[in-house]
This record gives sequence, structure tokens and C-alpha cells, in this order.
Amino acid sequence: MRKWFKTFMAAGFAAILISACKKETNQPAQEEISQETLLKIQALGFGTSEVRKVDEGYLVEGDIILTDENLNSSPSQGILRVGSDEQYRTTNLVDGLPRVITVGTSGLTQPFIDGALQTVSRYNALNLQIKFQYISSGKPDIIIRGFNQPPSGGYITLGSAGFPTTNGNPYREIKMNTNQYAYGTNPDPTFVGSVIQHEIGHCIGFRHTDYMDRSYSCGGAKSNEGASNVGAIHIPGTPTGPDANSWMLACSNGRDRTFNSNDKSALNYLY
Ligand SMILES: [Zn+2]
Repeated sequence: MRKWFKTFMAAGFAAILISACKKETNQPAQEEISQETLLKIQALGFGTSEVRKVDEGYLVEGDIILTDENLNSSPSQGILRVGSDEQYRTTNLVDGLPRVITVGTSGLTQPFIDGALQTVSRYNALNLQIKFQYISSGKPDIIIRGFNQPPSGGYITLGSAGFPTTNGNPYREIKMNTNQYAYGTNPDPTFVGSVIQHEIGHCIGFRHTDYMDRSYSCGGAKSNEGASNVGAIHIPGTPTGPDANSWMLACSNGRDRTFNSNDKSALNYLY
């Protein structure tokens, strides 16, 4: 979450750690990303304070991959908003509903497989038009792979994913950090699973709930990086106050976190 990140220390120090981290990072600095690209990212309604170039495109808000296709698309579907502080921005959605999306893992240990199975059963329990199925062989629609990256600046990336394609398919790959500081040497499958659950949310078109105010999941100051030029869709009947327990918050609480009632409303609204 700078990534989906886990905070190692008290939340109040997070803002300081983020700035400290920028100096020691061995990844490309933000200055190397063109102004044109940053403007495209901003126009799509994403934060531009910590953009990184990665193989697949650009990593924004910690764990979201924006591909060139995303950057060159014009947002037409607006923001799905729950309450005053929460929003679930959709770029493209998965279409062809009802539809079964297959999920598989590659080269990952049992806790990650168990986490994927937990994710599948939690989504399917919502009785949505979109269903998930874990397959252990063949070519899944969404493949979960590992990467190994140590902590930096007090944060560690737990996982990453991207958004659906313009032709209505889910994002194809979730990356999960196998570094021992991410989930420990004996990972808790329920925690691993809750991160996969979050990343699958991105794969089917959900953005971070707390984009406008990441202080409530990541700690530190508000980090609203500017207005988007897309509209908002309000879901009737959902509360107007903040809700700190969404599965799509930008930062992990380091424990198992699943759908709250607003999340379920949003998922039901879209799928
Ligand atoms: Zn995320």
C-alpha cells in the first residue's frame, strides 16, 4: 500500500517515515516520472505523491498497478461513494455477468494457498453475480505469485494488483510478498487471505476506500492529493460518517480484515 503496507510503528510517525523512506529508496524517484504521466494519474483520481515505475506500469497508492491502458483511458464510470469519507472508484468493471473467475497460485506455500481459498469462499458467500473458483492446475483468470522485498522506511509492501481491462476482464496478476517481515516465517493464512481479498478487490475494479483521507488507515496526515475530474455515485442508505474497517483501506491493520456492511453494499451494487 504505500503499497498495501503494514506499519511497523505507531501510526503517528507514519508521515515522517514516508518522507524518510523517499531518501533511502533504491527504486526510481518520483522526479524521474514525467509530468505528463503524473497528470494522467491525477486525472484518473489517484494520488501522485508516491508514484513508482514498475515493470507492468506505475505503482500508485502503494499497491495499485496502473498500466498504460489505464493511463490512456478516459474515466467514464465515476466514483462509487459510500458515506462522506468512503469512496470506491471504479475504472473498468468485470463484465459478462454472471461470471466465474478462476484463481490460482504459482510457487507459493500452503498459507498463501489457504489464504486464496479463504478469499474465494468469502466472496462467494456474498452471492454476487461474480463468483470465484480456485483451480490448482491450468491457466487461471487471476494468478497469485510471490515476490520478496524487505521493509523500507518503516513499511513493507504486502501485495499489489491492478484494475480490470477495458474489455471487461479482471486484472490478471496479484503479487504477494514472501519476505519474512511481511507475514512472518509461519504466515497466518487468515491474514494472508485478507490481503488477497483486498487485492482481488482491485482486480475487479475497487479502489481504496480512504483515498481522500488515508490518515485513518495509514496514520499521519491527510493525503488527499487533488481532485479527480470524474463524478460520484452515492449508494442510498449507507451511513455518512467515516468507517475505519473497510476491506479496501489503503493500509493493513496487520490482522485479518474482511468485508464490513458498507463493503457488502458496494459489492452488491456493482456485482
Ligand atoms: Zn490496495
